[in-house]
Amino acid sequence: MIFTVAIDGPAAAGKGTVARAVAARFGFAHLDTGLLYRAVGARAAAGEDPVAAARDLAPADLARGDLRSLEAGQWASRVAVLPEVRAALVDFQRGFARRAGGAVLDGRDIGTVIYPEAEVKLYVTASDEVRAERRRQETGGEAAAVLADLRARDARDAARDAAPMRPAPDAVLLDTTELTIDAAVERAVSLVDAALRGGPA
Ligand code: C5P
Repeated sequence: MIFTVAIDGPAAAGKGTVARAVAARFGFAHLDTGLLYRAVGARAAAGEDPVAAARDLAPADLARGDLRSLEAGQWASRVAVLPEVRAALVDFQRGFARRAGGAVLDGRDIGTVIYPEAEVKLYVTASDEVRAERRRQETGGEAAAVLADLRARDARDAARDAAPMRPAPDAVLLDTTELTIDAAVERAVSLVDAALRGGPA
């Protein structure tokens, strides 16, 4: 079976958690596409040309332990504005989206650019403050600094010319400001379930 779930949204909105839960529930493969940009950013931070790094990205790059930091996120969003970096990563992501057995991809441009044909498209969001608090619980640090970091990254991701972060016109919006992550997961699961059965949720 070929079935694709595209999940986009700003940093720390809960899209990774929703994506992993949906993948586990339906036995689909999951790709965190942010990791690709974080890996390219880490190589750029070490002095490499980001376009060259994107073109020969290897599984070992994705396994490094330092990709989750706030700094790695900023480097990721700086290299993500480059159209050649994005172009180098498209084929892998599209191939993943169409792999046999079902796929869930989360990122910023999955439903708009990578795979607009996805059977289910979600845009997961939450208020800046709620997202910053969730991120602070993972990374530590000072609340105001984490909030400023998220806002800077979101602004860059939304304003860039190449595949800016935005919901696909037909994406279902999941605002997790007031919704618990468990409730968001249940909503996502019921949307996927309905699409698999061929009807509305
Ligand atoms: O999702 P995550 O926070 O790990 O993504 C890190 C950065 O990678 C984002 O801020 C964004 O700049 C970039 N990214 C992107 N397109 C994607 C996924 C991530 O531009 N599909």
